[in-house]
Amino acid sequence: MTQSNRFLSLLCTLLFCSFSVHTNAADEPQYRQLPRTQTTPGGVVILDLGSTDSTSPTATYNEVPVAVVRTTAGWRAMIGIPLSAKPGPHSVEVTRYDGSVELKTFEVDLKAYPEQHLTIENKRKVNPNDEDMVRIRRDRTDIANAKRYRHPTILSTRLDIPVEGIRSSSFGSRRILNKQPRQPHGGMDIAAASGTPVYAPGDAIVVESGDYFFSGKCLFLGHGAGLQTFYAHLSKIHVKPGDIIKRGQLIAEVGATGRVTGAHLHWSVGLNRTWVDPELFLATTE
Ligand SMILES: [Zn+2]
Repeated sequence: MTQSNRFLSLLCTLLFCSFSVHTNAADEPQYRQLPRTQTTPGGVVILDLGSTDSTSPTATYNEVPVAVVRTTAGWRAMIGIPLSAKPGPHSVEVTRYDGSVELKTFEVDLKAYPEQHLTIENKRKVNPNDEDMVRIRRDRTDIANAKRYRHPTILSTRLDIPVEGIRSSSFGSRRILNKQPRQPHGGMDIAAASGTPVYAPGDAIVVESGDYFFSGKCLFLGHGAGLQTFYAHLSKIHVKPGDIIKRGQLIAEVGATGRVTGAHLHWSVGLNRTWVDPELFLATTE
């Protein structure tokens, strides 16, 4: 399917979706649990936007819209802090329904993530050739487009672990592949055999699927308001862009496609187009 066809079909599905999610009162956003906060690079900040507005305020951080959630205590902005964020004060621009704008600030604390050394057998996956670079650039455009997608209605804010397996706590680690420094690790790796089922961690819409040089077969889910999850190195994908899926639904199978040292699921959680620590969204960890 071409990019434009895919987005058209996505739009059609969205129209249906925005009606259906409002019919169930028990599913209304004020009952949703928010992630745990961690005010460091790769963490999540929850900002109190007050309770007086009858219509949702909007907010932007680094000029990207952030998720605003209604809770029983009022409006809350749920902000992802990039791994590259500098410690110190950061600000969010909040716009009220009446058009008034205010700046709210929060503090980002220092966090030193550990170094992780890995050996990749397939040398081209660390030092791609010219032909690979053409594909990698195309993959990056696809990934950037998928990350920009923002479903208007919040479908889930608390997430379940998508696969049973051995979890690494390597989110944020500074990766050294075959002795060469690379981007920090933007997700959680869960070791499991090829073919192990991967389940949707919350209600979602399927935003994109692809087969990329580094990520292998992969899938993007949108959980609403810019909360996204990403699944990489899959062997099989059971859903397609535009599908509306429920928490616990089979979406894919673990594999070893792309740049890997063995079969595992790479699972990322994104807010406002930035990867944050998936642990913060899991109810079972605290
Ligand atoms: Zn990974």
